[in-house]
Amino acid sequence: MASLSLKHIYKVYDGGVKAVNDFCMEIEDKEFIVFVGPSGCGKSTTLRMIAGLEEITAGELMIGDEVVNDVEPKDRNIAMVFQNYALYPHMTVRENMAFALRLRKDLSEEEIMARVDEAAKKLDIAQFLDRKPRALSGGQRQRVSLGRAIVRSPKVFLLDEPLSNLDAKLRAQMRTEISKLHKQLATTFIYVTHDQVEAMTMGTRIVVMKLGVVQQIDTPKNLYDYPGNKFVAGFIGTPQMNFFDATLRKVGDEVEITFANDRKVLVPAECLVKAQSKYFDGETVVTLGIRPEDVHYDDEFVAAHPKTALDTSVGIIEALGSESIVYCELDPNSDSISDSGTRLVLKVDPRIQLSVDQPIKVALDPTRIHLFDHDTEVSIMPRVPAVNLLQGKVKGGKVDFGGIKFDLPKALALSDGEYQFAIPSDAFRFDGQGANEEIAEGDPKHTVPFDEVPEKYRKKAFVGAICPLPHSEFAHEVPGGALSVEVKGVETIGKTKLLRFDFGGAPVFAIGNQDFRDDLKKINTDIDWKKVSVAGGEELPALNLFNVLSAKMDKERTGKKDFNFGINVEGKIFYCTEYVQQKLFNAAGRKAFDIRLDVDFDPYSVKLAEDGISAVIDSIVDYGAESFAVCKVGDKIVNVYLREGDNVSAGDSVFLALDVSAVGIVEADRGIRII
Ligand code: ADP
Repeated sequence: MASLSLKHIYKVYDGGVKAVNDFCMEIEDKEFIVFVGPSGCGKSTTLRMIAGLEEITAGELMIGDEVVNDVEPKDRNIAMVFQNYALYPHMTVRENMAFALRLRKDLSEEEIMARVDEAAKKLDIAQFLDRKPRALSGGQRQRVSLGRAIVRSPKVFLLDEPLSNLDAKLRAQMRTEISKLHKQLATTFIYVTHDQVEAMTMGTRIVVMKLGVVQQIDTPKNLYDYPGNKFVAGFIGTPQMNFFDATLRKVGDEVEITFANDRKVLVPAECLVKAQSKYFDGETVVTLGIRPEDVHYDDEFVAAHPKTALDTSVGIIEALGSESIVYCELDPNSDSISDSGTRLVLKVDPRIQLSVDQPIKVALDPTRIHLFDHDTEVSIMPRVPAVNLLQGKVKGGKVDFGGIKFDLPKALALSDGEYQFAIPSDAFRFDGQGANEEIAEGDPKHTVPFDEVPEKYRKKAFVGAICPLPHSEFAHEVPGGALSVEVKGVETIGKTKLLRFDFGGAPVFAIGNQDFRDDLKKINTDIDWKKVSVAGGEELPALNLFNVLSAKMDKERTGKKDFNFGINVEGKIFYCTEYVQQKLFNAAGRKAFDIRLDVDFDPYSVKLAEDGISAVIDSIVDYGAESFAVCKVGDKIVNVYLREGDNVSAGDSVFLALDVSAVGIVEADRGIRII
């Protein structure tokens, strides 16, 4: 029984193959996690890194509360089940199951046998205990290998395509058995498969991977209902979701979707309320997605949905028994047998008699439409919209969004006129909660209180990173909640509450506090203007919250064999904690001193100090509750949050100190995040 934490895990094989790229995930105790994706996407590599069979190139892996990067596989308290069973052929089932327990030497023979018998009973293999593996069927062998894992009572079960060698019927049966086993054992399971049906039926959460990159992590239902991109949409569900190039145009309260050689449907705008309005111009090509089960061929549904009805004709019928898959052609002139962008696949009741070339009328379920950006393939109507695009009228330092008026800060000193505002959904601050500005306690592994910093590091009077400043010096508070607005809806999405407002007819989404009540009717809110960008006439970008400076690992001889290790950021050495040192050495070995690093940090993790990185203030931006100094460090710009007593102005030369616990470090050339 254990939780797992995977932080920025990378695997780069010799020869430079980046098999796993920045894998981040928190796995709770007792979860059944499935890694799924096409062959070569990095699933097995990730699992093998968890097992300790593959070295982790960079990142931190925790099992329970222990960092296990350097812990031997046998000491990780995990058990692994492989596709090829990996049983010893010369041993009986009993001996195979007892083998690992005997190695431990802390259990009596009696206890070992009791455990073997109990596991055999659970798996229904008690009658085979004295047979050798070759006298067992594939399914029975896989049960033995599960049994061998169970007897060890591991904290985590790792299963690598355990059912791939079994025939379809046995696979289905074993799926249920493994799910039952998971419930019985109440232990964390991590299961690798390329089969989306296995993933959907077994996982409490699924990780969809492609080319070493995690595409989406979610429950089976959410992956199916809310795929975050076209790849996930196409990978989950059989037959695959239908995709079409399409354009969207707003027509009153509806959106006209044109696709498949000028076929048109009209859907209520409310169904696409989370899609960004910029796509509704009638020109921008998007990808329309609709699952075969959301295209209906029944008179009642078609009659009720005349605006999404389509005349088509039956091409091919696949009768699968429990359902029939019907391939239709939306372009009457097409004679292509492959998918030419006009083929529509639907699922129908197998009792319905259809014949090839029969004209039929079908209708799309408007509430089940998916839309993706044509180029990035990312969903344009994500569950939590990232940004609201709003037209606002500016007059006398105020902006009016259809009757909802906000005071603009000095940083957004716009002349009177109409502008487009891009307001991220996380830019709304709510009364009394400081919204998402709360400072988490520094991770103890990253932060070293000043008096715990080794003496030899301390005597150097360097200010700032990768040691001495205590985290609390960087704390800041942002007030919020000036204007009372009506809440039109509260949606719970995982741990997030998504609020919906209505600014003069335009829907606005805001990420709220997870404690918000579902029946919330009004709330005091304020906008965090530094996150807002403005277009139209004058262009004002949002404040860059992601500062990056170049760095290198550096050392200084302090004795014959003693060195101080540090990070040289723009010519200034900052001593680093052993933790950071180790991570740098882990990632780059002896080349650690040669590699180019990027150090990144937000404006709150840097402050004006008496010594540190030299900078010149270019300008001061005033957001009312907060001000920032835009500083030039060489040819780079660093935005610094100004604290009380920071009386500086443009043109001043200053020094900058960084917050140790908050900087990130990336190996620049390979793009590997080290911290
Ligand atoms: P999956 O389990 O999703 O099929 P893997 O984790 O086995 O994928 O492999 C991910 C990528 O890493 C693939 O491109 C594969 O070719 C590569 N790879 C796997 N093992 C090695 C290895 N030992 N050396 C070099 N490349 C490897």
